[in-house]
Amino acid sequence: MEQTFIMIKPDGVQRGLIGDIISRFEKKGYYLKAMKFMNVEKSFAQQHYADLSAQPFFAKLVDYIISGPVVAMVWEGKDVVLTGRRIIGATRPWEAAPGTIRGDHAVEVSRNVIHGSDSVENGKKEIALWFPGGLAE
Ligand code: ATP
Ligand code: MG
Repeated sequence: MEQTFIMIKPDGVQRGLIGDIISRFEKKGYYLKAMKFMNVEKSFAQQHYADLSAQPFFAKLVDYIISGPVVAMVWEGKDVVLTGRRIIGATRPWEAAPGTIRGDHAVEVSRNVIHGSDSVENGKKEIALWFPGGLAE
């Protein structure tokens, strides 16, 4: 079954949005396959966002991800990568439709609450990075 990597970013944790976010994925019909609460190191955050290393906002993005604990999750289900991105909403919160997580809970692109894998292939890479010991059966 298809899997995606979802991370609740530090602002989402600090603002008490963990329950709301998990609830949205559960109600949709997805299965929570793995979850952990953790602080990430700078080098790890740089690795997670390596594709964006040339962007002018890269350093700020990395500092934001390491600013507090995050919730790392693997969600499973039919078309979960694409549908998960639709539940999350557009990257820029002002373009995210009401009813999406970012549309309902964010105003700044640099503090947009949640990350979701953007392809099945990247999902596999991110799950391997964040859950190096594999997933429980
Ligand atoms: P994510 O990968 O976190 O799920 P995304 O796939 O919607 O987000 P990306 O293009 O991968 O968007 O950008 C990664 C993150 O970098 C964004 O979620 C956002 O927090 C941050 N970001 C993107 N553009 C900007 C910007 N112009 N200024 C500051 N931060 C930005
Ligand atoms: Mg992305």
